[in-house]
Amino acid sequence: MTIHLTHANTYDGGVRGRWRDATVVVDGTQITGIFEPGAAPAPAAGDTVIDLTGKTLMPGLFNCHAHLGWDGYGDLQEQSEEAAQHPVRAGLRCAYDLRGCLEAGVTTIRDLGVHHTGLASRNMVRRGIIAGPRVIPSAAAIACTGGHTWWAVRQADGPVDCRRAVREQMRAGAEWIKVMASGHEPQEFTDEEIQAMAHEAHLHGLPITAHATYDPSARACVLAGFDSLEHGGNYAPDVEDLIVERGVWITPTFSPLTMQARHGIDWGMKPADVERRRKTLENPVRLLGVARLRKKGAKLAFGTDSGSPVVPHNDIVSEMEALLEFGVFEKVEQILEVATKRSAEMLRVLDTTGTIEAGKRADLAIAHGDPLTNLQDLRRIDKVFVGGKLVVDAGAVRRGM
Ligand SMILES: [Zn+2]
Repeated sequence: MTIHLTHANTYDGGVRGRWRDATVVVDGTQITGIFEPGAAPAPAAGDTVIDLTGKTLMPGLFNCHAHLGWDGYGDLQEQSEEAAQHPVRAGLRCAYDLRGCLEAGVTTIRDLGVHHTGLASRNMVRRGIIAGPRVIPSAAAIACTGGHTWWAVRQADGPVDCRRAVREQMRAGAEWIKVMASGHEPQEFTDEEIQAMAHEAHLHGLPITAHATYDPSARACVLAGFDSLEHGGNYAPDVEDLIVERGVWITPTFSPLTMQARHGIDWGMKPADVERRRKTLENPVRLLGVARLRKKGAKLAFGTDSGSPVVPHNDIVSEMEALLEFGVFEKVEQILEVATKRSAEMLRVLDTTGTIEAGKRADLAIAHGDPLTNLQDLRRIDKVFVGGKLVVDAGAVRRGM
């Protein structure tokens, strides 16, 4: 089936940038072309024409840091135990949240693990059992015994066990490896353990990323060849330089801090915890560190840490607001490029998606208004296509999807 998306105010993901009144033609699963006014082929009999006057067409968005096993509302440890012991309940939560991702315009997510919920979600979406974005899962994250979020991960100790933990995720179908390299301590694995995991992951062609928000763990991971780091940090100059030199990707995630500080009380968080977040936000060194990294030329991808407390999977815009507020980016267009083309590049899928170009998969999001001049319009998603299939219409996942 051929679909002509006409009169589209279009942002193509940073290939050329903005197009006024463009026509994008989709044939089956793929984009066949993007055309200037008057240059588009005429629709043939039987083609579908969708007039996008007053709307903005973009590549489907990416969320490169999601935890489908958590939903943003519940207690993380309880939900992690549920994922291990009551997989039906956890699975139903995932199915609900995958729909929320689509309705926010997200067509690809990287899941960074709560047991195997991301993996199961990937498989169910791929088989067409449930509606959702493409899920690129890490399977279970790996932490040392008693390390960061130990109740949600595969715990491993010593280089041999760390290698085995990576192999287990590979065997289960992981497409990334996620390591908790810091947490309560600035470095929770030894250098040898970190090197063993990086070596083992790369042996199987899997990229590897780490929660490493302090200098010792970030330094160790970058030197071991990690492909990306999560959250960013207030790193020392030598660590920042290493990140830039080695081309390590950073996925900043400001939402847990900003959302908990601003909305934690309404969401039932303990006042003392909210107060602590508010204090941190008065001097947000990690957030300012990310702005510094970008100015030095670090490669940034887009993620929200959705599933963490007060970060629901269907809220993409709050993270974008924070990236503007804390000076990482000046313009929405820069953020949209990071949330499409650049994230696709980090996830190694840019050859098939992430931009609006002939030959790419038709993963598309359409918002009312113009999010590039008014970011809030991105909260008003009208339609979403995944692989040429209309999965969201009039703001909601279609029946039977
Ligand atoms: Zn996370």
